[in-house]
Amino acid sequence: MTFSSTFDPRATRELLERSARASGGAVMAAAQRRAPSFEEAAALLSPAAGDRLEDLAQLAHGATIERFGNTMALYAPLYLSNECVCTCTYCGFSMGLPVKRRTLRPDEVMREARTLSERGIRNILLVSAEHPKHVNAGYVALCVREVKLAASYVGLEIAAAEEDDYRRYVEAGCDGVVLYQETYDPQAYASYHLGGPKKKYAWRLDAPQRASRAGVPHLGIGALLGLADWRFEALALAQHARWLARHCWRSQVNVSLPRVNHAEGGFEPAHRVSDRDFVHFLLFLRLVLPEAGITLSTRETPHMRDRLAPLGVTQMSAGSSTEPGGYGEPGSAGEQFELEDHRSPREVAQRLRELGFDPVFKDWDQSIAPVAPAAPAPSQGSAVAGD
Ligand code: SF4
Repeated sequence: MTFSSTFDPRATRELLERSARASGGAVMAAAQRRAPSFEEAAALLSPAAGDRLEDLAQLAHGATIERFGNTMALYAPLYLSNECVCTCTYCGFSMGLPVKRRTLRPDEVMREARTLSERGIRNILLVSAEHPKHVNAGYVALCVREVKLAASYVGLEIAAAEEDDYRRYVEAGCDGVVLYQETYDPQAYASYHLGGPKKKYAWRLDAPQRASRAGVPHLGIGALLGLADWRFEALALAQHARWLARHCWRSQVNVSLPRVNHAEGGFEPAHRVSDRDFVHFLLFLRLVLPEAGITLSTRETPHMRDRLAPLGVTQMSAGSSTEPGGYGEPGSAGEQFELEDHRSPREVAQRLRELGFDPVFKDWDQSIAPVAPAAPAPSQGSAVAGD
């Protein structure tokens, strides 16, 4: 069984429509349940829930402290390549855009990793555009093996891969795979992904399961906010996370909520998400997925990140660059999108301490407990996947 074979976008939409009329009482009842069913959870996305964000924030903060304490893991992306054979309309690396292209040699990758290590970052996410020739499984495995010499945690955010390739990455030392579905709406997905291997919606949707089967310990999933209705993305993402927690229980699940930023190509999101709705999205994730880590990137402003940190976030990027070679040779290649938080890792850590957090530079496992408790019990008869 795969998630793509059980996920039903139409049932998800119908559930949202029904829950739009939820009362304030239903909202607070769902928020106080430890593991609400999706019927109940959908109420947390209703307009009535939007009127109770302060109450939800208090509950989300309490749930975060109870499960994760005050730790905040810090990581940085290391871009391997911006050469891409895909056309994704929202991305600054999309094929054909006039950006400087570059794939780092393994020695250049190591130089970037050492630069990050000198800045205190030991949790590194290797990121790459999709180019089967330049960024093949052998190259990726080599990069993981090398970077593991300078980092205690190495994750991958690259093209969706075959199970055997994920196995190679695990053997090389890969600790985690991050793979955003971008949008869970299949029609919207088709409208944004116009060419290249990333066009395959179901292949991408089932990649975290293949990674888990191959032994990847941590899975990161998410939706790129701005591509479709955020409430639909929230409910779909929660279904995906719970499905993985149940069927891929050897791996820990982390969720992310990246928002579309300005990128080369001038993409304008059709479903721009306001700051208030973004907070609402985060609170929903924390209350419905109390065991999941939540990642917040430098796509958000320092002010926004400081405000969101206590509401459920467990991991943040810091001191990031989104171009290959961007730490040692900034400007040598095009960037994927513009960042909003330009503080150094040291400045981010200092601010987190002022806010009462204990920033952790080395090991994701310090913010995500080693063994996730069992997934929430399913409710009977729901048409919504994972519920
Ligand atoms: S989103 Fe990924 S696959 Fe699509 S154009 Fe950008 S780098 Fe390439």
